[in-house]
Amino acid sequence: MMLRTCRALCSQAGPPSGDWQPLRFDGGAFHLKGTRELTRALLVLRLCAWPPLVTHGLALQAWSQRLLGSRFSGALLRASIYGQFVAGETPEEVRGCVQQLGTVSLRPLLAVPIEEEPDSAVKTGEAWYEGNLSAMLRCVDLSRSLLGTSGPTGNVLMQLKVTALTSTRLCKELTSCIQRPGASPELSPERLAEAMDSGRGLQVSCLSTEQNQHLQASLSRLQRVVQHARARHVRLLVDAEYTSLNPALSLLVAALALRWNSFREGGPWVWNTYQAYLKDTHERLRRDAEAAHRAGLAFGVKLVRGAYLDKEREVAQLHGTNDPTQPDYEATNQSYRRCLELMLTQVSQHGPGCHLMVASHNEESVHQATRRMWELGIPLDGPVCFGQLLGMCDHVSLALGQAGYAVYKSIPYGSLEEVIPYLIRRAQENRSVLRGARREWELLSQELRRRLLGQGLGAPR
Ligand SMILES: Cc1cc2nc3c(=O)[nH]c(=O)nc-3n(C[C@H](O)[C@H](O)[C@H](O)COP(=O)(O)OP(=O)(O)OC[C@H]3O[C@@H](n4cnc5c(N)ncnc54)[C@H](O)[C@@H]3O)c2cc1C
Repeated sequence: MMLRTCRALCSQAGPPSGDWQPLRFDGGAFHLKGTRELTRALLVLRLCAWPPLVTHGLALQAWSQRLLGSRFSGALLRASIYGQFVAGETPEEVRGCVQQLGTVSLRPLLAVPIEEEPDSAVKTGEAWYEGNLSAMLRCVDLSRSLLGTSGPTGNVLMQLKVTALTSTRLCKELTSCIQRPGASPELSPERLAEAMDSGRGLQVSCLSTEQNQHLQASLSRLQRVVQHARARHVRLLVDAEYTSLNPALSLLVAALALRWNSFREGGPWVWNTYQAYLKDTHERLRRDAEAAHRAGLAFGVKLVRGAYLDKEREVAQLHGTNDPTQPDYEATNQSYRRCLELMLTQVSQHGPGCHLMVASHNEESVHQATRRMWELGIPLDGPVCFGQLLGMCDHVSLALGQAGYAVYKSIPYGSLEEVIPYLIRRAQENRSVLRGARREWELLSQELRRRLLGQGLGAPR
């Protein structure tokens, strides 16, 4: 199977040629998957589309532990949800999962699953953030060590959640400082970058002494993780979160970009994430792309639709402020199309100075990206790649991978206790995706029926 995959890759990677052929997301590539895997995917995706399971996930887990005992309940989770969406607990288990993905031309995008409520006051204190920093540094090492585990090589990418290294409270405070009329010039990316380099006490007048100390410690953690990632040739994709935090996160990314995204140094090493469901995203993306090129910096973007729709709307309603999100799903789709077009044009103009991850399970978005890549002459395995979550939309990922595109699966890993709360939160944020997995169930059922009816001779087990 590996040889077949490799041959497909070697013959199709590189500049597009011939006519553009739309990829077929008809589950044809499921023949690469084992029957056991397909059955688990079908069961788990159907279960996850059942709203009470997602809403009361944590309570159900606690209840099953009491009723079945933690060993049996753990085994049940490992055989189902954990097994479907998580790579494993140990580096060896992660390596095994990545090796399997490699045989079907998919690459890893490791994500350390760290949970914190946006308003949590519990997990403050530098020790908690220092612990997270160590986990991030280990994740960089693991990401690097997976290169060439099997399957295609290419850029090594990893997700970075900034609020694991700095408190959401500080990010909120910084966001409101940034948004004040005549925002303080003290909060320029240049000044933050200097403070990162010197490690000396940064003083920002709108922050308290304690917050200034936490900001300095956070800058130093960010600097250490990027320094380590740069040395290991791992590119960091910073997650976007809530609009109450994003301006602060973007300021930190801009400061890091000044130090680490020089094109001559092989940048971009730090990418930002843009959420198309926000009304101002297209304009911000255009401005940031132009500013990066003016400053001679490479620019890296993970383009998503956005995961926090319900919360954003709840908060806007609660505070009587304008809803920052697009009015409906079609408006978000339209915004995604415009952002994608903007970024693909940027890539075609700036080549490797501009990198894009099309992080979406949406078939129309993937078709748009592949068609425009062909029209603009962007190589299949160049500065544009695709991203999907592990265990989701494999019919899309496999078809892309088989055609020679660079496809990354976002992979959480860790112990059951660490990962299950994270997974349940992600499932709550991605309810619409899980409900929309209907097409995936149909394709999975079709493939399983084909095998059970005896037409699947030679299918992997
Ligand atoms: C590799 C990867 C990394 C990711 N990183 C991030 C990240 O850093 N930050 C983040 O926020 N998300 C992130 N996501 C999640 C992403 O934002 C989406 O929630 C998820 O991918 C679903 O969108 P879609 O394009 O795949 O599919 P679709 O199912 O086509 O779109 C669903 C999305 O459409 C939007 N939508 C649905 N209904 C409405 C409505 N009524 N009005 C307006 N908009 C609506 C929402 O954004 C919803 O999530 C990531 C996803 C992937 C695959």
